[in-house]
Amino acid sequence: MTDPDILISEVGPRDGLQNIQSIMPTTEKKRWIHAQAMAGVREIEVGSFVPAKLMPQLADTAELVAYCKQIEGLTIAALIPNYRGAVDAVASGVHKMSIPLSVSETHSQRNLNKTHTQMLDEIKSIADMVKSLPSHQQPHFEVGLSTAFGCSIEGAISEDKVLRLAERAMEAGCDEVGLSDTTGYGNPAQVKRLVRSIKQVVGDKSLTGVHLHNTYGLGLANALAALEEGITTIDSSLGGLGGCPAAPGASGNIVTEDLVFMLEAMGLSTGISLPLLLEVRGILSDALPNESLYGFTPNAGLPKGFRGI
Ligand code: ZN
Repeated sequence: MTDPDILISEVGPRDGLQNIQSIMPTTEKKRWIHAQAMAGVREIEVGSFVPAKLMPQLADTAELVAYCKQIEGLTIAALIPNYRGAVDAVASGVHKMSIPLSVSETHSQRNLNKTHTQMLDEIKSIADMVKSLPSHQQPHFEVGLSTAFGCSIEGAISEDKVLRLAERAMEAGCDEVGLSDTTGYGNPAQVKRLVRSIKQVVGDKSLTGVHLHNTYGLGLANALAALEEGITTIDSSLGGLGGCPAAPGASGNIVTEDLVFMLEAMGLSTGISLPLLLEVRGILSDALPNESLYGFTPNAGLPKGFRGI
């Protein structure tokens, strides 16, 4: 299996499911994740290690991680809200865990009940805990700089603040920072500018991924802008499920089907079979009949003569 040019990280089972009313049964989640891995998706964020009473939709995260270990070649990712979540994530055996560090301090307090200083202390404790593990048990630890392009509570976010937090998160000992447009307020010029300036501060290897939302229809344009600045991992969600509970008005992630179509049409390999990926959508529409699914490619079908895998 050769490495694709671009790694698509599917976040639907976490970002998508945490923001809809319906609760997807665990067996259906397993079918979804398995089918998507069989379509060639190499990394899937399967859930979040939050208390089940806060987020019953994701209460089966540890069970999903255990199930996914049987899927060869799949990188299993999970979100963690705090140190306690990190301990649970490590115990489950995830390969990658990420904690959101909201650049908007108001959002951070509302979402995770912590100031920036408290969050950075938490990140340092987690990083120290990870480093104390035997190397084969250490998950990759990422800090996602959320609301980096604007916040639905605070409004505009200063780019200097994003840079400073990126630097401090790296100093606290995480492996990498990610850039996250939680609200979908970002535009391509802003994406280019921020990716470039964060890389200058933390180094090329410490920023490889972006997490984008399609609130204003700019998701794919923003993804392209990020690619042009050397980003190689892009989060997306099948059918565009997703949003953010603490950012009212934010709709779903960029649509995995459309992102794969754009990249493959441009000649960039994703390792994903688009015909197989389009079939996976049926699992979602059957299991979540009351939820909207988005995307152009699924409706239009593949163009005549399309060459993918
Ligand atoms: Zn998101």
